[in-house]
Amino acid sequence: MAVKYRKVLIKLSGEALAGDDKFGVNPEVTLDTAKQIKEISDLGVQVAIVVGGGNFFRGRTGEGLDRATADYMGMLATVMNSLALQDVLLSIGCEAKVMTAIEIRDMAEGYSRRKALDYLKEGKVVIFGCGTGSPFFSTDTTAALRAAEIGAEVILLAKNVDAVYSADPKEDPDAQRYTELTYMDIVEKELRVMDLTAATLCKDNGINLYVFGLRGGHNMMKVINGENIGTLIH
Ligand code: UDP
Repeated sequence: MAVKYRKVLIKLSGEALAGDDKFGVNPEVTLDTAKQIKEISDLGVQVAIVVGGGNFFRGRTGEGLDRATADYMGMLATVMNSLALQDVLLSIGCEAKVMTAIEIRDMAEGYSRRKALDYLKEGKVVIFGCGTGSPFFSTDTTAALRAAEIGAEVILLAKNVDAVYSADPKEDPDAQRYTELTYMDIVEKELRVMDLTAATLCKDNGINLYVFGLRGGHNMMKVINGENIGTLIH
């Protein structure tokens, strides 16, 4: 198998699944995402996924609520996205399992690292819901944590933009597009790629990050094949 990566963790933000709708789960975008995931899984690549929840709810925007409560609501939002993605993956013939960091037994399995590793070896796509299970963290941090736990070679950060830029390319036509950065660059240039807790966890555990645009073709496949379509952070 001549692929660049054999075990990956894909981080999908909630916004990525909402597409242009900005809220909720867009059926076409979710189907396209699922097809891209199936495509790389069919190649024999082990695929784990962490989904965000920002298309439904974010803890820090839960005005008037206790932060921890709002974060628990945010974690529930990630479960909605996880279930939606699992459903669409199953509908196209791709075996998928949602594992949640907080037990919701009637809907999904509780997270177990050993079990997740077994599923991945069996070729099943594993979707991690509920983030880390703790408030005051993000799903970016969850991605770094789970990637370290399962020994993923890279985190594929699928975004609505195609790479990391020095500024928002939609607002600043002079924004510089980066093909390669270090974690120190992210801190020093204050690039908003992921939060600092997540970036530190990646850096300390030697996990590379690849930022790329989810839409516009078979982009996951291109990344797996080593094509330079986004930004590598190491
Ligand atoms: N969250 C949390 N702990 C975690 C992961 C997520 O409390 O370990 C909550 C937090 O409130 C966050 C929300 O879940 O705002 C949704 O996740 P995130 O904002 O990371 O989603 P994304 O921006 O990627 O869609």
